[in-house]
Amino acid sequence: MIVLFDIDGTLIDPRGAGTRSLNACFHQVYGRAGAADGIMASGQTDAFLFPAIADRLGIPWEPDRVYPAYLSALAEELPRGPARILPGVPALCAALAARGDLAVGLQTGNIRAAAEMKLAYAGLSDHFRFGGFGEDGPDRGDLVRAAIARAARPGVPVVVIGDAPNDVLAARAAGARAVAVATGWHPRAELEALGADVVLPDLTDTPGCLRALGL
Ligand SMILES: [Mg+2]
Repeated sequence: MIVLFDIDGTLIDPRGAGTRSLNACFHQVYGRAGAADGIMASGQTDAFLFPAIADRLGIPWEPDRVYPAYLSALAEELPRGPARILPGVPALCAALAARGDLAVGLQTGNIRAAAEMKLAYAGLSDHFRFGGFGEDGPDRGDLVRAAIARAARPGVPVVVIGDAPNDVLAARAAGARAVAVATGWHPRAELEALGADVVLPDLTDTPGCLRALGL
């Protein structure tokens, strides 16, 4: 089985680090304050979000200038919140690793360098060897498909776990089982209404999580 995790709202609570870093990088590069204020980033991909902000500001989208500034800001902002690992995540990751028969990866809208920074901050780097990332496309379905391709296990079942409606929709589009967790920005009822196979309140009940994943 392939198990694909979202990061923000699922593995970690970034405590606003993403929004603060977006604001910091557009301010540093273009002198524009509050660029990300009012933007709903949950479930979006960086390949969608950053160009949308640039468009709203009326500036060209220049990833080679913006992404390095964003990553510098993120390194400062993660400990400032501080971002925190969500309850139950280390135990669930350890339980999945102990099975030895799973391909455990990421499906995250973060660009790869930001995803790696967040996992390192949370002490989770060893648990996720591959994934789909923000660079894989503006649509979350793009990065879920990319993650499945990189797992290189054709024909095996896939389960996607995330906190946002877009995680559920992307799982559906990829023919994957959709497990939602209500530790992000979206209430349980909203996730249930989208047709998630299971909605978990959080990831603290490791045996219950394994059952929800179909294991
Ligand atoms: Mg999320």
